[in-house]
Amino acid sequence: MVSAPATADAESAGVAVIGAGIIGLCAALYLRRAGLDVTVYDAGGAAAGASFGNAGLISIDSCVPGPMPGMVVNVPRWLADPLGPLTIDPAYLPHMFPWLLRFLRAGTPGRALQASRALNAMHRNSFDNYRELVGNERFDDLFRLSGQIQLLKSGPETRASRTVRKIWEQNRVEVEEMEEYELHRLIPAISPDAKRALFFPRNGYTVSPRRLVETLLQCLLEAGGRFRQERVMRIVPEGAGRTRLVTNLDDAAFGKVVVSAGAWSRSLLAPLGVKLPLDTERGYHVMVHGASLDLRLPVLDRNRGFGATPLENGIRIAGTVELAGLDKPPDIRRADVLLDHARHLFPTLRGEKYTMWMGFRPSTPDSLPIIDTVPGRPDISIACGHGHFGMTAASTTGLVVAQKILGSKPAIDVVPYRLGRF
Ligand SMILES: Cc1cc2nc3c(=O)[nH]c(=O)nc-3n(C[C@H](O)[C@H](O)[C@H](O)COP(=O)(O)OP(=O)(O)OC[C@H]3O[C@@H](n4cnc5c(N)ncnc54)[C@H](O)[C@@H]3O)c2cc1C
Repeated sequence: MVSAPATADAESAGVAVIGAGIIGLCAALYLRRAGLDVTVYDAGGAAAGASFGNAGLISIDSCVPGPMPGMVVNVPRWLADPLGPLTIDPAYLPHMFPWLLRFLRAGTPGRALQASRALNAMHRNSFDNYRELVGNERFDDLFRLSGQIQLLKSGPETRASRTVRKIWEQNRVEVEEMEEYELHRLIPAISPDAKRALFFPRNGYTVSPRRLVETLLQCLLEAGGRFRQERVMRIVPEGAGRTRLVTNLDDAAFGKVVVSAGAWSRSLLAPLGVKLPLDTERGYHVMVHGASLDLRLPVLDRNRGFGATPLENGIRIAGTVELAGLDKPPDIRRADVLLDHARHLFPTLRGEKYTMWMGFRPSTPDSLPIIDTVPGRPDISIACGHGHFGMTAASTTGLVVAQKILGSKPAIDVVPYRLGRF
């Protein structure tokens, strides 16, 4: 729970939240429930960014960061394979270079273990916090506590897989090895090539990422919050701790501002002298509408970099990482690759209609979000950089952002998410 505002100032001057993605709306709703006057800005409406088209996985036991020891040896193989899980636009490489260097530096055993603890802290209460935000009835409608399956490659243990096991042990992750017959009994349509798998009983998913975000906005409006369909063009710090937002339509001043604009947060904050080490890992999905497959829970194939989730409107095949910045148009071939992989895993998979989407994961080089304030401006909060885990991390992020603004003790230690770590 979030307690009432510590200062009359925070209450009277109002809070602006930039971005109606999953992060902004979770923060906004916690702030509004604590009695603050909250206005959310987004030109695209609710769920216009990554929060629209993700895989919907709520993976409370997911705590393995992107940069891992021994991972770099795989990169040339991934890049050479047109069906591989990673692709880099050569024209974008020079822009991405500092981010990649930091990514490589974050891949030591010590730093990976440290990051895993911070991810675990951020993820483990995700379901409980969502339940608190939307209430029991909406929670039961939107979420499935089904567990998740992760397929394993046959072969000997590698350095990376040993580190992963250590990370799971240290974070008390609940994971069970599945026998081949159990896997095939649970998912009869899975290919005979799938022989080894792990089951994560505490993980689950939302049946609709879009509807989850829209529901959060609905809850905010019902609680008396405001939404303005406007693009914030400039954040202008003024005197006496007030900040003016200049939008494409209007301008207004606030006592507190939360920048939760996903992958676009970097360019919004740059004029304030804040250099966010934030880039985008572009990802894709293919929706198989009217799918022939009866899938009861999400199946992830980390080696091929994709997952299949049984959403309420079809099966969503989502994944891949494309490093190509915010401006390049989607490359439809990446979505075709996802569908090829899915058909390899589920040979009978067919649909009545297929739709594709590309979105921008807001990613930091160490896989941890940035939850902090602008240096010298404690009234301007930053909440972005949730990369691959934003749907899982959002409810706890929203809680701690609100607690920090209200001057109460955050539910988890926020030191690992400080901007100053870079
Ligand atoms: C293919 C794919 C699969 C994924 N699968 C999962 C998963 O299964 N589980 C999981 O936990 N995470 C997953 N993720 C990650 C997750 O989707 C993101 O981490 C999360 O959605 C980020 O939320 P956000 O609110 O920070 O950003 P966004 O959802 O991108 O929202 C940012 C919002 O800010 C708005 N905005 C930007 N600039 C401005 C401005 N100037 N003024 C006003 N508004 C502005 C945008 O319109 C946008 O609506 C996946 C991502 C992808 C791409």
